[in-house]
Amino acid sequence: MKLIYTILLCVLVMPAASANELPDLGDVSATVLSPLQEQAIANQIMRDVMRSNQVVSDPEIVDYIQSLGYRLAANGPEKRQQFNFFVVQDNTINAFAMPGGVIGVHTGLILAANNESELAGVIGHEIGHVVQRHLARMLAQQKQDTILNIASLGLALLAARSNPQLGSGAMAAASAGAVQKQLDYTREHEREADRVGLQILDNAGFDTRGMPDFFNTMLKSSRFVDGSAPSFLRTHPLTTERISDVRNRVESMPYRQVQDSQEFQYVRAKLRAGYGSASQAVVYFQETLRERRYTNEAAEQYGLGLAMMRNNNMEGAAKQVEWLRKNAARHPYIETLAANLLVAQRNSGQAGKLYAQALNQFPNHRALIYGYAEHFLALRQPDKALALIQEKQPAYPDDPYFYELMSQAYTAQGKNMLRHQAQGEAYFRRYNLQGALEQMDLAAKSGDGDFYQQSIVEARLNQLKQMALEPKKEGFFN
Ligand SMILES: [Zn+2]
Repeated sequence: MKLIYTILLCVLVMPAASANELPDLGDVSATVLSPLQEQAIANQIMRDVMRSNQVVSDPEIVDYIQSLGYRLAANGPEKRQQFNFFVVQDNTINAFAMPGGVIGVHTGLILAANNESELAGVIGHEIGHVVQRHLARMLAQQKQDTILNIASLGLALLAARSNPQLGSGAMAAASAGAVQKQLDYTREHEREADRVGLQILDNAGFDTRGMPDFFNTMLKSSRFVDGSAPSFLRTHPLTTERISDVRNRVESMPYRQVQDSQEFQYVRAKLRAGYGSASQAVVYFQETLRERRYTNEAAEQYGLGLAMMRNNNMEGAAKQVEWLRKNAARHPYIETLAANLLVAQRNSGQAGKLYAQALNQFPNHRALIYGYAEHFLALRQPDKALALIQEKQPAYPDDPYFYELMSQAYTAQGKNMLRHQAQGEAYFRRYNLQGALEQMDLAAKSGDGDFYQQSIVEARLNQLKQMALEPKKEGFFN
């Protein structure tokens, strides 16, 4: 079955690519990029994103921003556009769209949003830039070397920020800045993105006032935080006309009272618990709880639990879990916190029981699946880890971490071919074609698989080689 699937995949992928015209990046006289050119750029950017240590990898935060992003995109005017949403560990208030529908959201933006509709308003605005093809149109006017620059420097700024002492990082940042200048949005773009964003907000069932309200939130924060404007305002100029234009549109739209999702509240509390030093985070939540400065008590108690755990106060954190179990609705985030706490306390017996119970109730919660698989690997039970991953993987076929866990399990079992094959699939899903190719080559040469496994690996190796030979045709840069 798996062999057929792999071969089918080749058949499906190859003709589809050759049926299209070759995306000749040398000829960009067209007014927009072709879908394959955009895909190549998006893949390159995502590869840098995946490598950057400034991108949040916490599966609960990742899944939250993706489900919010896809919900908004699904309510937009362009259903065929691909999107990738991710969170950048950066406490400035910003969000940005890159070619290929890649949208980054700063942690600072999530923390600054007073409600979910405000956050959704900014993401809707970025989706507006993508579906109006502002970047694709600006890129189409650039020379090929600039496009390559944009693709390879897309996230260079992130790298430069995490390694400020690196000269090359600073250089990359400088040229990324120059590239960014060529791609600054015009007022016309801003108006279009606002218009599309508002419609998306409305269609998706959010409060459209979220958009103008967040303009105010940003203006206020620029007055109170070190006097400088949030970076969002530099790339998306906010004029008084723009504000009144959006306010006027909102007036004509239906009024809607919208409750924030519990996930929004918990994700914000989690980010807040990771902000500043651990002891400062504990004090922050203790004060908001004591002074009752919150809109959602469960989220505050959850944040306090996370902050206490971060501060190595496991007993305190366990009390928080108790409070949440008694007073808040059952939620997979709470179960994940409880299980992580047991792991940190080295109580693997209880942790295993809890993972099994929680996954019964929340069978596809990635953080629980990760935790349970890691639990089995720590107990040197690779067969159980593999059984779990193989059961859960169909819901997340593009998740590289599932393959990394499998690779660890096969390593523990001493199975070399399967270990390299899984690692190759992980690299492929981290947009690292070269790494995938090397691992698949090692798998093919390892010689400890049966005939059936060997044919799967060889078919996949040939497919990857084809991709490496004609990267542009396959939506990759070299
Ligand atoms: Zn904008």
